[in-house]
Amino acid sequence: MDDVLIIGAGPAGLAAALQLGRYGIRPRLLEGSRPGGLLWNANRVENYPGFSGGVSGPDLVRAFLDQTEHIQITREPVLDLTWQDGAFYAKTPASVYPAKTAVIASGTKPCPLTGFTIPDTLRGQVVYDVAGLLDSAGAKVVVVGGGDAAFDYAINLARKNSVIILNRTEQVKCLPQLFAQAQACQNITYRPNTGIIRLESAPAGGMVVECSSPKKTIKLQADVLIGAIGREPQLDFVSPSLMERSADLEKMGILHFAGDVKNGMFRQTAIAVGDGIRAGMLIHQRLMENANEADRIHR
Ligand SMILES: Cc1cc2nc3c(=O)[nH]c(=O)nc-3n(C[C@H](O)[C@H](O)[C@H](O)COP(=O)(O)OP(=O)(O)OC[C@H]3O[C@@H](n4cnc5c(N)ncnc54)[C@H](O)[C@@H]3O)c2cc1C
Repeated sequence: MDDVLIIGAGPAGLAAALQLGRYGIRPRLLEGSRPGGLLWNANRVENYPGFSGGVSGPDLVRAFLDQTEHIQITREPVLDLTWQDGAFYAKTPASVYPAKTAVIASGTKPCPLTGFTIPDTLRGQVVYDVAGLLDSAGAKVVVVGGGDAAFDYAINLARKNSVIILNRTEQVKCLPQLFAQAQACQNITYRPNTGIIRLESAPAGGMVVECSSPKKTIKLQADVLIGAIGREPQLDFVSPSLMERSADLEKMGILHFAGDVKNGMFRQTAIAVGDGIRAGMLIHQRLMENANEADRIHR
């Protein structure tokens, strides 16, 4: 049985593993996708200390991964996490990993686009992140959303593609500098008060995006459609009975949530990293207390 199980090797999970390593504790770190997490999608991170002038998301991830190179990552998705008879059990397609303590650092999942049907033929072209698109050039991209992620995605992809941002309302929720940057970019068209009503495959490839705007219905051609209308905690794998007991287990110091998965609107890398370090410290403290208690009993 492992002392510590960490689910997710994004900034929070990596930081937790790094901190535990300082005490000589080797956690089982499970990652279902690409280590580094959501940050692979960030165009420019300007609020992570230590990088004057900012740093690109992928460069910051590479720095994290360089620093944590010695930490073993088990590349398996957790399908089910349960709590039974005093232990956590993480089930993956390959195995079941029992552990005394768990850190859930699984980040968020995108809110799906709604209000229109996505034809099966277009499923591969309707996506929710940009990490896999960064090499594409000359494509027509439509981004849906009005917050930081929508504008960050648009600015990132507009270097080599033409981008339209569709915002259902007039309200812009992104940082002012992102809005200004998008406005100044020749490859970005911003359309407020415009919502998608229909999506269909175009005969010549790509798709036709039919939208309602205040005065008329418009049809846009696109190769790819990106949803950026919000994110919610990724907790699909946590069993309902564990979720029910989670507050008690947190109080007992054996379950920790770290990073975006618990941070609501405070979804930022520095906060996620801080959460991970804190979880590592608390777990060490608890393991020490348990060891001292066992010592006392045996003496
Ligand atoms: C476009 C964009 C721009 C951003 N810009 C900034 C910025 O400028 N400044 C800033 O501070 N932050 C920024 N962020 C936010 C930043 O990326 C996140 O705050 C940070 O990545 C959160 O780290 P995390 O470890 O909590 O979660 P994540 O990075 O989401 O990592 C979670 C990890 O858990 C894994 N996982 C999930 N479920 C399972 C499972 N069942 N089994 C195994 N593994 C699982 C995922 O694959 C993922 O690798 C930006 C985000 C986006 C999308």
